[in-house]
Amino acid sequence: MDFELTSEHREIQTLAREFAASEIAPFASEWDRDRRFPAEVFSKLADLGLMGVCVPEEFDGAGCDFLSYVLVLEELSRADAGVGVTLAVHTSACTLPLLMFGTTAQIAQYVPPLARGEALGAFALTEAGAGSDAGAIVSHGTESATGWHLAGTKQWITNGSFADTFIVFARTETGVEGPRGISAFILDASQVAVTREEHKLGLNSSSTVDLVFDTDVLADRLLGERGRGFGVAMATLDGGRIGIGAQAVGIAQAALDAACAYAKERRAFGKAIGEFQAIQQKLATMATEIEAARLLVYRAAMLKEHGKPHTVAGAQAKLFASEVARRQTSEAIQVLGGYGYTKEAPVERYFRDAKVTEIYEGTSEIQRLVIARSLLGELGRPS
Ligand SMILES: Cc1cc2nc3c(=O)[nH]c(=O)nc-3n(C[C@H](O)[C@H](O)[C@H](O)COP(=O)(O)OP(=O)(O)OC[C@H]3O[C@@H](n4cnc5c(N)ncnc54)[C@H](O)[C@@H]3O)c2cc1C
Repeated sequence: MDFELTSEHREIQTLAREFAASEIAPFASEWDRDRRFPAEVFSKLADLGLMGVCVPEEFDGAGCDFLSYVLVLEELSRADAGVGVTLAVHTSACTLPLLMFGTTAQIAQYVPPLARGEALGAFALTEAGAGSDAGAIVSHGTESATGWHLAGTKQWITNGSFADTFIVFARTETGVEGPRGISAFILDASQVAVTREEHKLGLNSSSTVDLVFDTDVLADRLLGERGRGFGVAMATLDGGRIGIGAQAVGIAQAALDAACAYAKERRAFGKAIGEFQAIQQKLATMATEIEAARLLVYRAAMLKEHGKPHTVAGAQAKLFASEVARRQTSEAIQVLGGYGYTKEAPVERYFRDAKVTEIYEGTSEIQRLVIARSLLGELGRPS
């Protein structure tokens, strides 16, 4: 067992950290306040090869491994979690499932522009009546002479206003309810319409929208096997959750950095507050929980990279890291006192951004169900 990052991993971590420090962190509060999607950041990330960091070189990616991608997400999210989720959805919820389930022709057409960052990806599963219960979607696909007619609405789709390529899920098999009978399709931006931009608690530099579609697609837009789309969605989320764990670790680390800096400079009762053991105890707990979360995330990433089962490891990593992020961003506000509660300090943004990591790509309750099922087998499955 080797807990050291390789020199290649450290190199990409440093690249992402330096980019985030100069191109993201100084502007993150402004983007949050103005609810602005910083499109220019993604062009610069593309120049660095980071929009396709774990995509093989033959498809115009950087050819790095999944842990490298996780390291990049952690560093970007440390500066701005909205930038982090934009890259996470683009990569692990759009580019990677195309690579995993696409035909040779689909991969050749869609993956290189995504990996070069010339196109942005999105993943559209959730609907008004189907979130955790994703098998309840009612968007539907009807077979036509040339392919499919797809119609439906989707809710809370990250990157929706800016994406070029969408993976969209629709029910295609009649008489089959629940998770069976769903298929995955590849749609272009011209085939979906944005009906509403969501106003969120945090993550304000990311785009989250409702979509509607009512369009004909050729048969070659079916991704994976007909009626097996739920499997595409679940495999996608298995990997995606590791990325959300990395996002949570990045946010929590930013909160710890801010709390440590403040503990050294803020004085009360004639001392730096960092001299009080109550503050030291908080910082020590924060650092320990964040490190534990980081190790769970890196372990899950390595299992995925080596083609080993990673459903439970990914669920554990996301569950723990997201709860650490929520808890420890709150503790960071406590260390900063009244200042931490104001918009002058970044920790209130970290606190707002952290919360969503307990919700999307499967809530904490759903992660616990995934983990419990692995412990209890059939007993843990819904009846
Ligand atoms: C900012 C943001 C971005 C998002 N981006 C995307 C995206 O790009 N693409 C996409 O498809 N979706 C996206 N989503 C949707 C997200 O994945 C869902 O919000 C999430 O899966 C939860 O679904 P829900 O909100 O409908 O909650 P619900 O399913 O209604 O759950 C409500 C509560 O009930 C609990 N619950 C539900 N079922 C069970 C159960 N069986 N046992 C115990 N508790 C249960 C949940 O844990 C939760 O606490 C996004 C959401 C947000 C907020």
